Amino acid sequence: MANLRFPQTNISLPNGVQGVLAHAPHLTHAHVSITIAAGYLDEPPTLPGLAHLLEHVLTTAPLTASSNTSLLTWFAQHQGSLNAHTDDYVTDVHFSIPADTLEAAALTVASQLATPTMASPTIRTEVAAIDAEWQARQHSSAMQRLSAIATLSDSQHIGAGCRHGNAQTLGHNTGLLYEALTTFHRDHYHGGRVSIALISPWTAKAMTHLIQRMAMLFNPRPPNAPALAITPRWGSLPRVKVVGTANAVELLWPLPSSVSRHQFNALSDVADSLNQGCLVAQLADSIIDYHATAAPTGATDAFSLALTGTATQERLEVLAAFLSERLAALLATAPIDHRTVWQPLLAPCNWRRRGLSMRASMHWHDGLRHMHRLNHISPTGPADRLPTG
Ligand SMILES: [Zn+2]
Repeated sequence: MANLRFPQTNISLPNGVQGVLAHAPHLTHAHVSITIAAGYLDEPPTLPGLAHLLEHVLTTAPLTASSNTSLLTWFAQHQGSLNAHTDDYVTDVHFSIPADTLEAAALTVASQLATPTMASPTIRTEVAAIDAEWQARQHSSAMQRLSAIATLSDSQHIGAGCRHGNAQTLGHNTGLLYEALTTFHRDHYHGGRVSIALISPWTAKAMTHLIQRMAMLFNPRPPNAPALAITPRWGSLPRVKVVGTANAVELLWPLPSSVSRHQFNALSDVADSLNQGCLVAQLADSIIDYHATAAPTGATDAFSLALTGTATQERLEVLAAFLSERLAALLATAPIDHRTVWQPLLAPCNWRRRGLSMRASMHWHDGLRHMHRLNHISPTGPADRLPTG
């Protein structure tokens, strides 16, 4: 299938916010992802679920401008949809909205993320909501995968434990949670950690102006805020790690803590080419599907090959050796740009899952700078018709 590559423009704002935009004239909706470099691995060790709780509170708390509307209800009232996800090193809030409502939507979301009101009733309600999610998800394959990934972490690392959060880990002391949420928000939801990606039928000039206005709502990095440095979590296990769940096997290659933008793009290209079928000849018939990802959910600091079905140990080893060689060669190349540091890799939202055949991935470089990469929009019909629910 042919891919259409939409030209993208990257911008850097004075308070540290990074933006990327793509002009897609055929869309009727705009799609926006605001990503904050703060995930569950950034939480205080004693409060598992705090980053997740903040994500919930931001999307459900009353808006400053309207005390009986939250972000979620605002989008429902304006024929849009909004969702959010807390991952290991990143939290993203993404939304789709009819293009003529983009300006109001973008400023409403940015304003809420930058300067939220956090009321005690909302905190209490959302602790209960997270607890309900935890009860419902405990035995899901996604949670099994996350806990398998946790077992690969160094036992001293925060990532060795379950960070979903529930009523027990978060507790019922709303005053304490309010303080913790406020501190976590101040330290992480500032311009130095925010990236905005926008694709719409608007002109590039108009989108640039909008991103600038959104960015200005965020405070600059406060003094003494934690740096973007990351403590690698992967324990001293063999280079390829294997996560096995019921009918799936996932091979994970931990990435070094410093990867250039060029290298990350090359990793994404490897994943793309693998996904176009070039592994089929090497797989046993018992493998019915596979998917390679440069920065999968839950392990955005790894390269992943997820296999559906079963394979013999021997077959897995051959596959692992083949890919290890390819990835090692890629990572051994000298970066050709000057922006030599990123961590983590981010996949802020899976646009494909939202009915838009576009992958968005993101990383940061220079230790401070973010970049979104929006590409591969396949002309498979009305590209922005979104599923409901
Ligand atoms: Zn949740």
